[in-house]
Amino acid sequence: MKLKYIFGPVLSRRLGKSLGIDLIPFKTCSLDCVYCECGKTDKLTLERKEYVPTEEVINELKKYLYNRPKLDYITFSGSGEPTLHKGIGEIISFLKDNYPEYKVALLTNSTLLYRNQVISEIKGCDLIVPSLDAVSEEIFQKINRPVSGLNAELIVKGLINLRKNYNGKMWLEIFIIPDLNDNKKELMLFKEAINRIKPDKIQLNVLDRPGTENWVKRIPEERLMEIAEYLGDNVEVIT
Ligand code: SF4
Repeated sequence: MKLKYIFGPVLSRRLGKSLGIDLIPFKTCSLDCVYCECGKTDKLTLERKEYVPTEEVINELKKYLYNRPKLDYITFSGSGEPTLHKGIGEIISFLKDNYPEYKVALLTNSTLLYRNQVISEIKGCDLIVPSLDAVSEEIFQKINRPVSGLNAELIVKGLINLRKNYNGKMWLEIFIIPDLNDNKKELMLFKEAINRIKPDKIQLNVLDRPGTENWVKRIPEERLMEIAEYLGDNVEVIT
């Protein structure tokens, strides 16, 4: 079966057997993270539109799920930011209405969570894994290199907005980069932000494959464990 928007299923470190949905053309994103494994963002944007036809994505899902294959999750992810797609709400509703046995997950960079319209579109997900790589503006700019108009405060505000208006599971992902967000000041800011956001779980992620910038290094295991311990009880390390 030739599919354009669906990939996998892949065996994900966190989600088990996960069928991926990629709604955004390579490489369109609201951020240009130094650690991105997909490479440099060509189109840096916050514009929401129907980047690929919603109807075609739904048709591919109908075909793929016809025989009800065994899956742990159906996950919005891929090489760009899924919430930039205006049809994401329609696709989530389609899945929940027609295939209630499947759990739906969304991996997001959190940049649009300050918008109530986006929250109302994604709140049907069973699991949302939003990212937060820095709370200070200086480090946010250095790691995430956002489109103009975005700032770290807006990201934290969006995450609090999500928690208040969404009843599913929320696992906050933090990507730790040595010499950028692993110092005392940044970790203290993370701790304060986590207290305000109240995610169900925190997942610390580290470099697994080469990032966009080759100076980004993997943090030593021992230091990662210290950070996990500092940040609290419900912290998990993804390695
Ligand atoms: S948000 Fe995700 S897709 Fe976008 S640049 Fe960062 S890591 Fe890459």
